[in-house]
This record gives sequence, C-alpha cells and structure tokens, in this order.
Amino acid sequence: MRCPFCKMDNDKVIDTRLSDAGLVIRRRRECLTCGKRFTTHERLEEMPIRVIKKTGRREPFERGKILSGVLRAVEKRPLSMERAEELVDALERELLDGAEREISTQRIGGMVMARLRAMDEVAYVRFASVYREYQALDEFIQEIQKISDGDNGKNAEAAAPGDGGSAADNGQI
Ligand SMILES: [Zn+2]
Repeated sequence: MRCPFCKMDNDKVIDTRLSDAGLVIRRRRECLTCGKRFTTHERLEEMPIRVIKKTGRREPFERGKILSGVLRAVEKRPLSMERAEELVDALERELLDGAEREISTQRIGGMVMARLRAMDEVAYVRFASVYREYQALDEFIQEIQKISDGDNGKNAEAAAPGDGGSAADNGQI
C-alpha cells in the first residue's frame, strides 16, 4: 500500500478490524520508510467463509439464507426487519473475526439461536424447532447411508461390553 505521506510502498499492518456491516476491513498501517501511520478500508466482495454441510460438502456462506431463516422465525413477532438484519450483521462479524474460514452448519445454527434467544424467546423456539427438524432429517439420511454401506454391525458390538460390565459390578458382590 502506498504511503499517503512519502508515497513509498513499504508498510506493515499493525491492526485489522471489521467495521459496521461486517464487510469492510479497516487496516491500520505503518509506513516503514517515514514512520507515519495511516488507515485503509477494503470492501469485501463476499464473505471469505465457507459452510460445511453435514454431508461434508462445502458451500459459500450466503447471508440471504441465514436472513430468510431468521425472518421466518420472527414472523408476526414485535421485531423489525432492521433487528433481523442487525442479527445477521453481528453473526457475519463474529465469523470474520474468528480464526476459522470453514464452519459447520451446526455451529452457525447455534450462533443464530444464541442471538435470537437474547432477542425474543418465541422466535428462538421457532428457529430451533425448524433447525432441529432439519438436523434430524440430515442425521436420518446419514444413518440410512451407513446401513446401506453394510456398516451396521458396529453399533451393536460397541453397546454390549459396557452394559455387561456395569451389571456385573452392581450384582453379586
Ligand atoms: Zn511514508
């Protein structure tokens, strides 16, 4: 980045921050030639975050998907569109501030629920029920796939030794 004072392109970043709606990165820089400090703002074209689906598939983070889920949950509740937007802004900021660039759908769902709960209990319960339903379906499909892979013997084996052991301990002696 060219220094606005001495015009040399020789700087180091001393601080990075996200501003307002989450998609602007503000960088505090120090020119290594003249020692002066200046700030740059970069607007991100899209979130540099990928979402890991339960199936392991990666997809780009889509703000619109999260927002429509939140809006469905707050329907007919005394919460403005603005509040819903703010919730998603805050979520985006949290994601960008975090170290991870790939994040699971469960984690995102949990983050939305935590924020909704603080805003409106009814909206929280609605979101949670839709979200859990979806998760259960996802898990159900996974189980079906396991069985069709011929992998279903493992569960029975794993359950048996634990049960037998505790019964013996509590019994005779
Ligand atoms: Zn300079």
